[in-house]
Amino acid sequence: MTIRALVWGENIHEQKNKVVGELYPEGMHGQIAKLLGEDGEISTATAVLQDPDHGLTDEVLAQTDVLLWWGHADHAAVRDDIVEKVARRVYEGMGLIVLHSGHFSKIFKKLMGTPCGLKWREAGERERIWVVNPRHPIARGLPEHFEIEYEEMYGEPFSVPEPLETVFISWFQGGEVFRSGLTYRRGAGNIFYFRPGHETYPTYFEPMVGKVLRNAVHWAHNSDAAYTAIHDAPNVPVGATLEPIEERGPKLHADGEEGFR
Ligand code: ZN
Repeated sequence: MTIRALVWGENIHEQKNKVVGELYPEGMHGQIAKLLGEDGEISTATAVLQDPDHGLTDEVLAQTDVLLWWGHADHAAVRDDIVEKVARRVYEGMGLIVLHSGHFSKIFKKLMGTPCGLKWREAGERERIWVVNPRHPIARGLPEHFEIEYEEMYGEPFSVPEPLETVFISWFQGGEVFRSGLTYRRGAGNIFYFRPGHETYPTYFEPMVGKVLRNAVHWAHNSDAAYTAIHDAPNVPVGATLEPIEERGPKLHADGEEGFR
């Protein structure tokens, strides 16, 4: 079975910053798509902020199994109605992988429901990523730890909800630590947050980073049909109960009524 991945890139730094543009001539999204393309079971497409509807039309979202999200400079430019549509698809079972500065994206903050704040420092520090959940599918084939020589520091406290699982913890040369690989479940959707990926460093050329992303696409993929009923809120009238019950007390709603939203 082929997993249909869509890499969404904000595509601003690549256009405005010389360093980033030279590092990622095909865009960061283009390089991330290349990493996924090393896996024959993943088919990869890309979309960017500047596309009509940010490249996230109903048709595209319906045909996406796992969405990867890289944004940083202008989270506010992402339209709220598109964010709402992406969230609906996550609840219905689309996988979502949020990368690096995507911690402040509208979609991540909506799905987390918390500020998602953290400490940071741009000093080209060595990041040592410890695999703290070695039998987790996202950690498959990884050593006990691996290093990225140049990275931005992200430090705790990271104000996200307690995760379902912690797969990675990062250490930085300056002394800070960070929960850098976290899983969540929202509705039928699997969500993975992966920390590395600062735009001025060649992080998306790191073989270990590619391995994590490919593993994460497989992990996040939900092969079940879209769970659209998750949005329903049906009224079950007295006459339809599994065992007979007697209606008591005053009521506001008529039997079978749709109810308020
Ligand atoms: Zn960064």
